[in-house]
Amino acid sequence: MRDFLYRFFQGRYGAYGTDKLTKFMLAIAVILLVLSFATPLGFLYYLAFVLLFYCYFRMFSKNIPARYKENEAFVKVIDRMVNFFRGIGCNFSQRKKYHIYKCPNCKQKIRIPRGKGKIVVKCPKCQNEFIRHS
Ligand SMILES: [Zn+2]
Repeated sequence: MRDFLYRFFQGRYGAYGTDKLTKFMLAIAVILLVLSFATPLGFLYYLAFVLLFYCYFRMFSKNIPARYKENEAFVKVIDRMVNFFRGIGCNFSQRKKYHIYKCPNCKQKIRIPRGKGKIVVKCPKCQNEFIRHS
């Protein structure tokens, strides 16, 4: 049986193991299946089916460079999303250290370190000065 599977997968994309795109689609398909049963959104079942079908199609595909490219493109998109959310996290940690003030004159946002007491803030855009507690 093992031999048969080995021969069957030879020269097919699935022989190289499941890639990130396949794993991701399988995970989404499982979530959709659960949702289709647990919620009135029954049509999700068909979406899950389509995803599973595509997973199988990719695993049995002999066009390995094309499948490889698909996975590469997917990994790139995921990396970009991860970086985006990391960026939001960064902004949050900056909020702890800095205060963001708006210039009362021109509404320019100005970043001031926290914990400096009463300070005179000078707007870099319109040179307007105003006093704030930081
Ligand atoms: Zn200003």
